[in-house]
Amino acid sequence: MSVLVCVKCEREMKCMKNDFAVEEMGGDQSIRLKFGDLWECPSCGVKIVSGISPLPFAENYQSDYAEKVAQLKAKGLVVKSR
Ligand SMILES: [Zn+2]
Repeated sequence: MSVLVCVKCEREMKCMKNDFAVEEMGGDQSIRLKFGDLWECPSCGVKIVSGISPLPFAENYQSDYAEKVAQLKAKGLVVKSR
């Protein structure tokens, strides 16, 4: 696993969550969901998502897409990417 360092704090970041979702947006429209890893700096608390999969696990033409997005949002496990 890669090591990520917070430039501001000069501290190694910690991986807080695998399978954290990134919601790719096209304007205001949600296009697809991909999984990545959520990292956090233990000093300043800045968060990033890294290691995002090249392939989506859900796309907006699928009938259960809106439900998947809603479930992830309810759990706080998704961030938008514009
Ligand atoms: Zn920091």
